[in-house]
Amino acid sequence: MSRIESPATLRSTHPSESEETKGGSMSAPSRTRRGFLKQAGIGAGLAGAGMLGASHPAAAASNRSGRRQLAAADVLVVGGGPAGIGAALGAARTGAKTLLIESCGFFGGVASWSLGMPINQMRPESKPRSVVHELLIEKLQAYGDQAVYIGQHQLYCNVDYLKVAVLDALDQVGCKYFVHSTVVDTLTQGNRVTGVVVGTKQGLATIAAKAVVDCTGDADVAYFAGAETMMETEAPRMPSTLLLEMANVSPEQIRAVNMRKLADAAREKYPLIPKSWRLHPVSNGHHYWINHTGTRDIGQFDMTDPVQRSEAACVSRRQALQMTQAMREFGGEHLKDIELVATNPQIAVRETRRLKGEYILTEEDAAAGHTFEDTIGWRSGYLDLMGYKFTKMRIHDVPYRAILPEKVDGLLTAGRSISATHVAMAAGKSMGNCTATGHAAGLAAAMAAKKGIVPREVKVTQIQDALRKDGVDLAMGGKIQENVSGDRGV
Ligand SMILES: Cc1cc2nc3c(=O)[nH]c(=O)nc-3n(C[C@H](O)[C@H](O)[C@H](O)COP(=O)(O)OP(=O)(O)OC[C@H]3O[C@@H](n4cnc5c(N)ncnc54)[C@H](O)[C@@H]3O)c2cc1C
Repeated sequence: MSRIESPATLRSTHPSESEETKGGSMSAPSRTRRGFLKQAGIGAGLAGAGMLGASHPAAAASNRSGRRQLAAADVLVVGGGPAGIGAALGAARTGAKTLLIESCGFFGGVASWSLGMPINQMRPESKPRSVVHELLIEKLQAYGDQAVYIGQHQLYCNVDYLKVAVLDALDQVGCKYFVHSTVVDTLTQGNRVTGVVVGTKQGLATIAAKAVVDCTGDADVAYFAGAETMMETEAPRMPSTLLLEMANVSPEQIRAVNMRKLADAAREKYPLIPKSWRLHPVSNGHHYWINHTGTRDIGQFDMTDPVQRSEAACVSRRQALQMTQAMREFGGEHLKDIELVATNPQIAVRETRRLKGEYILTEEDAAAGHTFEDTIGWRSGYLDLMGYKFTKMRIHDVPYRAILPEKVDGLLTAGRSISATHVAMAAGKSMGNCTATGHAAGLAAAMAAKKGIVPREVKVTQIQDALRKDGVDLAMGGKIQENVSGDRGV
């Protein structure tokens, strides 16, 4: 059962409503720095203020808020994970003035935090999925074998190449971007979102937009705008995980150890360690990443609650060290010298709030491979509730109604926070699927901005035509995916 959060209650407790922050004037970037970046041919995507003329109604709305306007865009994409990258590339390729903003210092979301885990469903059945998916792959491949190893349907990346490959793709399509910008509220006119409020080192500032795509994973923009959102309150939510990167160990040494036995032996001394875990090679390199059940046996955390999120993040850091110590002390000759190289910059979250859209995708939709007249993409792979349920599903459509809020206008969502039940959310969380819904949302937002209408008014057939032009096969729903193997082993 999912709790549907009442927008009225949530809005009245949002701190930014009672906290007025006055902004000073935004200092102009130094000519020397800009000149250097231009000369070096980089930084093309760094956004400047006034991407739209001040005559745009959304710009006027932000001025009325009393905060300085940082920028304005036709399409504003919030959150630069797999969904946000899809949305930004999809929108910018149409020529729409597109701005992608991200709270971290780099793009990629969980794909970039997670130290090398597979970006699944990027090329299901080894076939190109869209020009947007392929652009990202092309940019990664340009850096050679160290950057990416391509599997049956997935990419195994070195995340530091991935972070720059995303910039390369954004620059190619002329998408502007900001990192270190966290959305903390929305600008609205009536029930229409006209922009966002971002937290920066200079305080709160506004960004105006003709259409906004919420790719925060947590439906933050929808929540701030007062749209209805859903959160699982009865069944256990999927855990959050701080992944590890290990070195100074060989494939032979890894294969020689039974990790479950090791964990059983070490648990009395290291109580936070999971039941077991595996080491997998990073792209084509000589170090290894570990994904695991994270907070699953430590407790249920609401990762939108600041107190619970802090607890989960901090206990996970202790857990990572306990796992490392367990391997060094209980892994015998093989693992005694294994080294911890890195953990995620922040805990990776699998499940939080989801939008309540015009349609809510269900487990049955995923299991049976349902198709919809208003399809704007499809999801493939496993229905993976991270230890609570794991089944093969059919490829199934995502209707346009599942990325549109029920009542709020000017807004679309994509990625893991689209309108779906708790189980159906788990069915679509593979990153290639998130990029696909992002791609569609970006195209729809660009069309709405160009026509001066809200996304709800865009004809679905026109979105479908644009998707087909971008290489998306919209007739995949109902099919069975043959090759879904995810295990690369060591
Ligand atoms: C531990 C873990 C392991 C996983 N393993 C796999 C796997 O092996 N293969 C696979 O394909 N999928 C895997 N998944 C699932 C997959 O990573 C996610 O479903 C997917 O990343 C969701 O994409 P997204 O773009 O919707 O959200 P995210 O990847 O969560 O990206 C959201 C982005 O928005 C930014 N953001 C959030 N709030 C704000 C805000 N208010 N303002 C500005 N920016 C904001 C975040 O910093 C982030 O960059 C895993 C997930 C986790 C957590």
